[in-house]
Amino acid sequence: MRSHAEVGRGGHPCRNSGTLTESAHATIFHMKKTIPLIVGNWKCNPVTELHAVALAVAVVKAHQKAETPYVAIAPTALHSAAVAKKLTSSPITLAAQNVSSFAVGAHTGEQSAAQLKDGGVELVIIGHSERRAAGETDVEVSAKVQATLAGKLIPIVCIGEKKRDTNGNFFTEVETQIRSFATELAPAQLKKVVIAYEPIWAIGTGETATNDDVKEMQLFIESILTKIHDRPTAQSVRLLYGGSVKPHNAAELHRVGGMGGFLVGGASLKAADFSAICKAVI
Ligand code: PEP
Repeated sequence: MRSHAEVGRGGHPCRNSGTLTESAHATIFHMKKTIPLIVGNWKCNPVTELHAVALAVAVVKAHQKAETPYVAIAPTALHSAAVAKKLTSSPITLAAQNVSSFAVGAHTGEQSAAQLKDGGVELVIIGHSERRAAGETDVEVSAKVQATLAGKLIPIVCIGEKKRDTNGNFFTEVETQIRSFATELAPAQLKKVVIAYEPIWAIGTGETATNDDVKEMQLFIESILTKIHDRPTAQSVRLLYGGSVKPHNAAELHRVGGMGGFLVGGASLKAADFSAICKAVI
């Protein structure tokens, strides 16, 4: 039997004649860590469902093969169902941009992990800096990670410093964010988590961390996870980089940075750019 912990490859459950069935492709838990994962975060874009579906179709056309690399897209909650229909016979995984920390009940405006799973979602972006800027705390992020794992979905936990300082205080900021959720998880749970290092100053600004900065952060995050648990656990956690990843910088960021893929914002809204980024990591 495949291990839940091998943070894995796409394949969303899909509705078929009213019953929930597994689609033909493997589940996200079985992704091989050696194959990069590229996640497109569409944020609050595009305006219409028509455009969201067209973008999904264009991404599907560009990624017919299952492992070249693993690709996921995160549309808005409103467009998720329409996009999911376009992904059913593709190797592309459906992601969500947020999740409730509650399982069910009187929580207006929220969507639970179970509801996301029922809608075909496999990956959930948690603690994106834009949500943290709107007030989401480390405590809430940790609760959402717990809820996501309990719902058998993969959390992509976003961390990253507001700015860089020459004294290296930004490492403390990143460490605090990691500890706030990772210390609440057993090793077997942590292995199912994806961590996206996204320096806030690099998001949507056109400024990226240098390739060496990304490598340094990959080693730093692994060292913190090793202190919290152990080296094998730390090394089995997939790390992503996010922050102005574009077709022109993706190959070197990937080659030198040593991360397990990218979380892509702006460039994921143009199928050609997103596809070029995906091709750059092969
Ligand atoms: C993001 O919002 O997660 C992101 C990385 O955005 P961008 O690629 O536009 O910097």
